[in-house]
Amino acid sequence: MKVSVIGAGLAGCEAAWQLANRGISVRLFEMKPVKYSPAHHYKGFAELVCSNSLKASRVASAAGLLKEEMYRLGSIVVRAARETAVPAGGALAVDRYLFSDRMTQLICEHPLIEVVSEEVTAIPDGPVIIATGPLTSDAFSAAIGEKLGESYLSFYDAASPIVSFDSVDMTKAFFAARYGNGEDDYINCPMNKEEYEAFHAALVSAESVELKDFEKHQLKVYEGCMPVEVLAKRGSDSIRFGPLKPVGLRDPRTGHRPWAVVQLRAENAEKTMYNLVGFQTNLRFPEQKRVFSMIPGLENAEFVRYGVMHRNTFLNSPKLLDAAYNLRSDRRIYFAGQMTGVEGYIESAASGILAGINMAMQLQGKDPLILPRDTMMGALAGYISDPTVTDFQPMGSNMGLLPPNPTRIKDKAARYQAVADRALESFENCLADFTEKTGDDLLKRISKEVL
Ligand SMILES: Cc1cc2nc3c(=O)[nH]c(=O)nc-3n(C[C@H](O)[C@H](O)[C@H](O)COP(=O)(O)OP(=O)(O)OC[C@H]3O[C@@H](n4cnc5c(N)ncnc54)[C@H](O)[C@@H]3O)c2cc1C
Repeated sequence: MKVSVIGAGLAGCEAAWQLANRGISVRLFEMKPVKYSPAHHYKGFAELVCSNSLKASRVASAAGLLKEEMYRLGSIVVRAARETAVPAGGALAVDRYLFSDRMTQLICEHPLIEVVSEEVTAIPDGPVIIATGPLTSDAFSAAIGEKLGESYLSFYDAASPIVSFDSVDMTKAFFAARYGNGEDDYINCPMNKEEYEAFHAALVSAESVELKDFEKHQLKVYEGCMPVEVLAKRGSDSIRFGPLKPVGLRDPRTGHRPWAVVQLRAENAEKTMYNLVGFQTNLRFPEQKRVFSMIPGLENAEFVRYGVMHRNTFLNSPKLLDAAYNLRSDRRIYFAGQMTGVEGYIESAASGILAGINMAMQLQGKDPLILPRDTMMGALAGYISDPTVTDFQPMGSNMGLLPPNPTRIKDKAARYQAVADRALESFENCLADFTEKTGDDLLKRISKEVL
């Protein structure tokens, strides 16, 4: 039996590699060079469409930890990236063409991978991994929408920034629900008139990201999700009557209703991360840091994700997928990559590794590899499949996804080191258990090589 893997991007290549290295034949469909998405230009596989950086290398960082876990699972992306790296200080950056060429060569030379250069327009029969990325072709998007229901598919990303709870100054911000309705679920950052006017002035004059033509076309369709800076330009009070409305809230420090309030809502069940409600934005990242740090309580906020607006096909995964990246309603189908709601090159690749391994396990009648939530790969898989998440938005790796360390460490570097050490220990314990149960020869071999 052959597994169909659709899309030879970062996720699809990883999935195909994991399957083929377990002796399972793969038919890998890629529409390039017959057809290109608006952002893809190079003929090779695993094309990096924008930056050439796979982010930080040091293990005591979110991206470094993720790459270390991927490496220990035999990642083809980490291998090819290290072989084609260019000097980039503490980051792993690559020559994008050499990287893509090396990925293409490794995949094409594998005896169990057959490459088919065509656009897939219908979900094939039999076992299939769908990894067609944020710019999935229109015809195939329609086929996925038909299978899952249109409401489960988003076509672009309008995300608000997210800050870590630890970094919010709670001597200025306060917990409360509007009119005292329900639990005190929101963090409220109150502004007086002066603070509001200074914030508004900074917001309307801040610099935005230039949108590509195809994105402008997409954004016109979705008037409902207007960037906060565009709303602010409609008048000095427009955001005070919108996302910053203070009604039903009293600042416990003054006993009065503030002039304006920015509300923060928990992003995860552990409440380690909070998003700025209604702050979907297209401002440049340094401008977001500068302007949003003017909000009382967020002066020293750590932004674990900035707001973004761009074309991005992604699933409402918490309703559809489990932590093995398997479609709950049709077990022969797995999804991988950016379309599952993980965000970023390495995150997409990491999900491809797990989808590939877990498809192999399913075909062999074995249990899936579900990594613990205190590992970075496990945290990402847990996030995209967590049915308690509402208003699901894509997420990249960040330390806020991991449960906090039980002992409080003040120094950030030492805190991250402790969390990374815990993650790798947990990762190794889980793999030892998994290889013993499944007898997976590949992981046994890899762990001998890397440890
Ligand atoms: C414009 C843009 C810029 C980005 N910049 C960055 C960045 O700088 N850093 C970062 O970390 N992340 C970035 N991302 C986010 C994301 O990490 C990348 O998009 C990443 O490549 C996603 O990996 P993937 O494997 O899911 O999809 P992709 O790498 O896009 O791979 C999908 C593959 O599927 C193919 N395909 C699509 N439809 C079909 C079909 N119907 N049949 C057959 N093949 C098909 C495509 O040609 C493509 O090769 C960016 C995304 C976009 C859209």
